[in-house]
This record gives sequence, C-alpha cells and structure tokens, in this order.
Amino acid sequence: MSPESQRHRYTCDCRHEFQVFGGGRHRRYFELEDSLLADPLMLGICPDCRRALPGKSAG
Ligand SMILES: [Zn+2]
Repeated sequence: MSPESQRHRYTCDCRHEFQVFGGGRHRRYFELEDSLLADPLMLGICPDCRRALPGKSAG
C-alpha cells in the first residue's frame, strides 16, 4: 500500500484546508503548502479559528 492511499483532505469549518495522513490517534495534519510535510500541526487545532481538529481529543 502506497503512502498516497492514506492521503486525505480535511476542510475546517472556517474553510481552511489541510492534508491529513494516517488515522485515529496517529492522524497528522499539515498545511496544504507544506509539501515537504515538515511541520505537522501538533496542537490539533486550526491555526485560523482555533477549532479542535478531529482525531486528537479521543485519547
Ligand atoms: Zn479553522
């Protein structure tokens, strides 16, 4: 299975778009412009509106 198959998009309620890798507690969000995947959003919140991103609070 290639890493490409795990790539998803998530759109926040504020219309900020992220690219998402993995699932469940291993889910990681990156900015769309972060093509090198160098800076995951570790806080689990949208940097625009501060809403919690799904997948982080369950654990
Ligand atoms: Zn947002």
